[in-house]
Amino acid sequence: MKDKLQAILDEATQNIQDSDALDKLNDVRVSFLGKKGKLTSVLKGMKDVAAEDRPKVGQMVNETREKIEQYLEETKVRLERAIREHQMKEEVIDVTLPAKRARVGHRHPNTIALEEVERIFIGMGYEVVEGPEVEYDLYNFEKLNIPANHPAKDEQDTFYINKDIVLRTQTSPVQARVMEEGKLPIRMIAPGRVFRSDEVDATHSPSFHQIEGLVIDRNITFADLKGTLEEFAKELFGEETRTKFRPHHFPFTEPSAEVDVTCFKCGGSGCRFCKGTGWIEILGCGMVHPHVLEMCGIDPEEYTGFAFGVGLERIALLKYEIDDMRLLYENDDRFLKQF
Ligand SMILES: [Zn+2]
Repeated sequence: MKDKLQAILDEATQNIQDSDALDKLNDVRVSFLGKKGKLTSVLKGMKDVAAEDRPKVGQMVNETREKIEQYLEETKVRLERAIREHQMKEEVIDVTLPAKRARVGHRHPNTIALEEVERIFIGMGYEVVEGPEVEYDLYNFEKLNIPANHPAKDEQDTFYINKDIVLRTQTSPVQARVMEEGKLPIRMIAPGRVFRSDEVDATHSPSFHQIEGLVIDRNITFADLKGTLEEFAKELFGEETRTKFRPHHFPFTEPSAEVDVTCFKCGGSGCRFCKGTGWIEILGCGMVHPHVLEMCGIDPEEYTGFAFGVGLERIALLKYEIDDMRLLYENDDRFLKQF
């Protein structure tokens, strides 16, 4: 029995020495000490050993088990240390190498301008509302008092999907949609992309952005409109900015006006930037046409309101003194990096 145990111990020792990985070491453990292992089967054979020899044999088996376990443990620690050392060598960092430059993007000038406009109007209690870019002719034109024979509907200006569906030419259809919901009062701005069948040049693009505003409540007057837009201009271009309202015509407002602000470069004395006039045109506005209110289910005898629309690109171009709108869309890194 003693020889048998010694043979098992020798074999186990040899196998452990041959193990060069942790999983192989574990295989050795299982094959000697496991349920069906070689040492375990010796214990199972104890019933054939004479009763008086059993304690001694049992002790010998236990000693053998302890030796194997101890050797397994030592080898395991040694292997783990070797693996760790190997990893450290692999992962060594050369601190003399130049660092990789992290290229972090940033906001597009259009986005910066949009967030600025949103900040101003949210501060005045307005809600920001979005709507579909592919829109029904009904909302894009009819409900905004633009009848079928209106020149704006000419195919030269509008991208038609079919005779009833267009790529919206303005963000005003969002206003019609909100008015139809009938939750009054309304105080909202609708920013978004719009589409016109224009040739690309320094001031035109077939796709650009508008921000439209709408207020509907009892007793809203042109004075509210003027006050709101004056405040907007001051917030956007500076406290000393003055505004000028010129009569204009839009089908969906009556009366309508275009708004100029004093040139923020020269303060109104005239310069190259404002073409010597001292004024810069920034937006169109007016009192919502009673017919538009009616078509959207609002009683024009009880409610009045005003609306305005401003080109987002126009604001970005003015604010950052960019002289060509195409720069905003060409994604030239050298241009965009400047903002
Ligand atoms: Zn000027």
